[in-house]
Formats: sequence, structure tokens, C-alpha cells
Amino acid sequence: MAEIQLHNTLSGNLEPFVPQKPGEVRMYTCGPTVYDYAHIGNYRTFVFQDILRRFLKLRGFQLQHVMNLTDVDDRIIANAAAAGKNIRDYTEKFAQAFFDDCKTLSIEAPEHWIRATDHIDDMVQLIERLQKKTFTYASEGSIYYRIAKFPNYGKLSKIDLTGIQAGARVDNDRYEKESARDFALWKAPKPGDHFWETAIGPGRPGWHIECSAMAMKYLGETLDIHTGGIDLAFPHHENEIAQSEAATGKPFARYWLHAEHLLFEGEKMSKSLGNFFTLRDLFAKGYKPAALRFALASVPYRKQLNFTFDGLTQATNSVERLRNLADRLQQGNFPAGKQSGMIERISKAHEEFDTGLSDDLNTARALAAVFDLARDANTAMDKGEFRQGDVDATQQFLVTFDKVFAVIEDNDAQKLRALGYGSADAGPSDAEIEKLIAERIAAKKKRDFPTADSIRKELADRGIILEDAKDGSVRWKRK
Ligand code: AMP
Ligand code: ZN
Repeated sequence: MAEIQLHNTLSGNLEPFVPQKPGEVRMYTCGPTVYDYAHIGNYRTFVFQDILRRFLKLRGFQLQHVMNLTDVDDRIIANAAAAGKNIRDYTEKFAQAFFDDCKTLSIEAPEHWIRATDHIDDMVQLIERLQKKTFTYASEGSIYYRIAKFPNYGKLSKIDLTGIQAGARVDNDRYEKESARDFALWKAPKPGDHFWETAIGPGRPGWHIECSAMAMKYLGETLDIHTGGIDLAFPHHENEIAQSEAATGKPFARYWLHAEHLLFEGEKMSKSLGNFFTLRDLFAKGYKPAALRFALASVPYRKQLNFTFDGLTQATNSVERLRNLADRLQQGNFPAGKQSGMIERISKAHEEFDTGLSDDLNTARALAAVFDLARDANTAMDKGEFRQGDVDATQQFLVTFDKVFAVIEDNDAQKLRALGYGSADAGPSDAEIEKLIAERIAAKKKRDFPTADSIRKELADRGIILEDAKDGSVRWKRK
């Protein structure tokens, strides 16, 4: 197996990935701010993290992965107040929608899914540690981090700080902060705002301290991997480093991985620009969960991803091609024996798949490996050269592929129904199902696999699963 190389934003280089403790990876992901529904740009980043965790698991690592929900910030406090709700009630709907979306996109649950508001004490304790080490100062009831005291500030994002280094003091009378770049660890409450009464005074945490406190609580003072979208590198992750390393004197995270943005019509997809789609927007247009996951995963994470509907249609076709191959393997009655060279061909695909993902999660290369094999296997089947003895190895390769990409297993219809799509369709009647199954058996007899596949797909889309028995009979059940 190839050595895993990951691009570390900290060094700016590809580095061999070696966790601190052999066999175990401690990873932190900045989760969503739950003031609204997440959009597919956000999910580009979350799917990348899922591919990363699934690949590491495939390679035998045990994951300790934490993802937080930022359920307190200025927007949440303002929106909750406007809706006359407390913070938990206001954010719950969006937190649930996020969990649902993750399930829908087959994003695995991390080992710890945690909320910022459950960790206020941990944040207060971390701020107290920073206070003792004089990295903080108070101003008008808020507590700020003194960046000038942390010489390594900027090492992640390589930001130019000449304007705020020692000597570039800002007039204290006109500014509440010593330096324009200093950031709030703790914010004084404004009248009417929700606040917590704590040992460091009334108020609420700043965004950055949340992640430092929660990451170190669950994963220890030095994490193996910290991930997020590229827009988080500065200032959020830079500030996390400043807080954590000032408090502990140890490196905070060893590998920093950042996903490039998803763009729509040339611009970053974002709530503030209004150029966004939620998952629900796309499902309402008839697109399927696996196709969206495929589209989001197919471009390597350090490249910008231009989202288009054509691209999503292509992803739909790509997923279908793989599912058809999986079906042909399951249903086909191939001549006995092994095709000369096929086992070597499959093991080459395995190797190329692994090499692609080991190369900083080059998903495009990993996908090329599976589609090349799919083409060769389909061609062999069309020519009647594919042999029964190669079925297992080909299936095993597809199973390995799907442990990371998770698009072949077809539960789109079930997922959509769980979200309330398609519930108006009560599904086909028993008689209709039997009729379609008979048509499919007839098509298969004529070796008209495209028709047989499209009938299977039509039934699957309407919630009916077919199971082909060895004796040629077909059982079906409603999902
Ligand atoms: P937020 O809920 O705004 O904190 O964002 C959640 C995650 O989505 C963060 O890791 C962001 O960096 C990421 N993100 C936001 N917009 C995009 C985008 N257009 N493309 C990729 N990732 C994004
Ligand atoms: Zn964070």
C-alpha cells in the first residue's frame, strides 16, 4: 500500500501522514453554525472530511473524530430573540436538519458530535488559563486575546501582520481593543441578549475559543488532524492556534487540512451572497442523494469545485453506471472459470485506487481506477468473456470502493422518503410490481440488460427492492 501523503496548510507541503499514536487518529472538524440550513457548499467540505475519515478507517486507523455544532453566535442570539425562543429551541431545528442531511449524504457520524453551548465551562476554564498567562485583557466587560504576545501568530495562514506587530499600537481611547486584530474570547452581554453568568463575568464565548476548548477536551492538547473549509484558516484557525498553544505551550494540531470552496457561477456559494442551494432544493428538482455526494466528492478537495446542474446530471449517470455493474455482477450467469488476466486487472485497479487516495485524497484518480475497471469488466461481459470465477474479486473491489465513496449501495428512495419526498406516491400496487418483474425476467432472458436494469431502477425509485434468488425466481419487498 502506498504511503499516505496529506497537504498540511501549516507547512504548505505534502507530508507523509503519521499519527502520534500508531493506529489511532485524533481529528477535529469545525462543524456548521446552526442558524439556518446548511448549503451544498458547506457539504462539499463535510463530504471531504467524510472521505478522509472513511479512507483512514479503510487503512485500519481507529478514529477519534469530533465535530462541533456552533450553536451560539451573534446571528443565533439575534434570530432567537426575534423569534421569541431560547437558543436551544431556535437551533434545534437546524441541528436536526444538519444531522438528517449528513445521513442523507452518507456522511458518517463522528465519534463525538457536540454542541458549543454544552461546553461553556470548558471555555471559561481555558480563558482563565490564558488570563493567568497574561494573554488577555478586559475591555468594557469583554475579554480579548492579546495577539502581540504570541509571536507565532500568522504561521498557518501566512498572513502579513506588519500593521499590528509591536509598535503599531492603536489609540486606546478611540478603540476598545489594544490592537485592531485582537479578538474577543468572551463577549459582554448587550441589553436583552442571552448570556451566561460565569467566573469570568456575564457574557458569552467568542467563536474561536469554542473550538479550542472542545477540541482539547475530547482529543488532548495536540490533535493529529484539524480540518475545515479554506475560509476558516484565517482568522478562525489562526486564532484557535494562538489560544491553544498559548495555554498549553504545545503544538495544537499536527496536520491542518483545508477544503477549497464550491463555486456557483464563478462565486463562492454562500448564505450572504444568496447564491446557494440546500439539499432540499436539489431533491425537489429530482436529483438524488448519491448523485450529489458523488458530485461533491469527485473533485479533489484542494481544487475549487464549480457546481453545475450538468455536472450533477453527469454524476447521476456515473453512479448509475457503477450500480449497473454491481447488478450485472450479482445477476449475471457467467461461464465457469476465470478470464485470463482479469484478477491482475482487478488488483491493479485496487492498487491505483489506493494510490490515488493516498496522494492527498486524489478522488479523481481513485474514481478513474474504478471506472477503468468498470469499462473493462462491462466490455468483457458484453463479449461473453467475463467468467463466474472473477465475480467475487470484482465485487470485493466495488465494496472497498464503496466503503469510501458510499454511492453504489442504493438507498436513495428510502432517504428521500425519510425527508418527506415521494411520500405522496404510495408506491406501485402488488399487481403492477408483479407485471414489471415479469417484464424484467423476460428482458433478462433475451439478455436485454439495459431494459432489465431500467425496470429494476424504476422499481427501486418507487421503493421496491428486488432480490434475485439463485433458482432464477425473484422476491420483492417494499423499503
Ligand atoms: P459555517 O456553517 O459557515 O461555519 O460553515 C461550515 C463549513 O462549511 C466550514 O468548514 C466552511 O469553511 C465551509 N464552507 C462554507 N462555504 C463553503 C463553500 N462555498 N464551499 C466549501 N466549503 C464551504
Ligand atoms: Zn472551529
